[in-house]
Amino acid sequence: MVKEMKYYDILGVKPSATPAELKKAYRKLAMKYHPDKNPDAGDKFKEISLAYEVLSDEKKRKIYDEGGEQAIKEGGTSGGNFHSPMDLFDMFFGGGPRFASRTSTRERRGKNVVHQLSVSLEELYNGATRKLALQKNVICEKCEGRGGKKGAVESCPNCRGTGMQVRIQQLGPGMVQQIQSMCNECQGQGERINPRDRCKTCNGRKIVRERKILEVHIDKGMKDGQKITFHGEGDQEPGLEPGDIIIVLDEKEHPVYHRNHGDLLMKLEIELVEALCGFQRPIKTLDNRTLLITSHPGEVIKYGDVKCIMNEGMPMYRNPFDKGRLIIQFVVNFPPDGFLPKERLPELEALMPEREEVLETDDAEVVDLVRIDPSQQRQRFAGNAYDEDDEHPHRGGVQCATQ
Ligand SMILES: [Zn+2]
Ligand SMILES: [Zn+2]
Repeated sequence: MVKEMKYYDILGVKPSATPAELKKAYRKLAMKYHPDKNPDAGDKFKEISLAYEVLSDEKKRKIYDEGGEQAIKEGGTSGGNFHSPMDLFDMFFGGGPRFASRTSTRERRGKNVVHQLSVSLEELYNGATRKLALQKNVICEKCEGRGGKKGAVESCPNCRGTGMQVRIQQLGPGMVQQIQSMCNECQGQGERINPRDRCKTCNGRKIVRERKILEVHIDKGMKDGQKITFHGEGDQEPGLEPGDIIIVLDEKEHPVYHRNHGDLLMKLEIELVEALCGFQRPIKTLDNRTLLITSHPGEVIKYGDVKCIMNEGMPMYRNPFDKGRLIIQFVVNFPPDGFLPKERLPELEALMPEREEVLETDDAEVVDLVRIDPSQQRQRFAGNAYDEDDEHPHRGGVQCATQ
């Protein structure tokens, strides 16, 4: 039981979310609300970052669960260091250049551009090539990035081409101070283009927007969250080495298979007669082959039994002939009430393993079983538990309801 839901709600997860679920939620939202992509989202990006930073840290999460946002804010002065939302994003996506832009390598390299690509489990199993259309800035070909005709670029008359303005300030008698600042006539460029000679293609901006098709090769066995980098394919800008385009894979849910690293997991429903007497069941693999799952007569499958087929899981990345396991969890369907007329039950019983005899004694009360609806039960228990036991408000309720 947590004190507040706010951070969980921001990330759209349950308070029981695992670190992997938090990561996934953060990744999706951070991509969606990153100011580069969604400049109108306001503080949303900040909120997401803060919520993730708190919940992804075991200590901070505990503080939050117990004391809510207030406790986190109060803890802020005593060692609770927080990253800026951008730094957190960079750490998460490995976007080094954004770090670099704050250090001495500033201006030498453009920003990396991160895109998310939704891929199916089939594509990750078989490998695939996806075409991705992007808009990017490229250097204007017409003016070769000069912004105007050759010779149209003139040295800025204000700063005489230095890009800097120097102002001299008298501090006192015989004391002067030189103050240097960026030239505001040319924005520190040191040159300007006469408006008459401006390039019409780029309007003097030196760059144009262009549609670019990227071919993304998805290799067999790639994972959710894996990055594919296109070096130097980011936005171009005169005088800058372009950054990278980074594609982050986002694995879509599959209706049958659930992936767990190299293993594939599936649930298989079988009938009681099949569980007891053996069965065969065809299933489609992710590369469209048919496997005939076989349980031989004499083998009994219990409800919840887990079995596996070796080498039918996901291929390993860069070693695709090596595959994980296909793990099958069995769900046994029992027949409904009255599936056999009462008078014929002894026939069935005669075939089953013998049961232990129970004697009805005089002091024993005979009680009947009543079916319960688990969804209604949850509310009842939870409600009672709140009133009676404040310290462990959910203990009784949740446990009963989930069993
Ligand atoms: Zn200037
Ligand atoms: Zn141009």
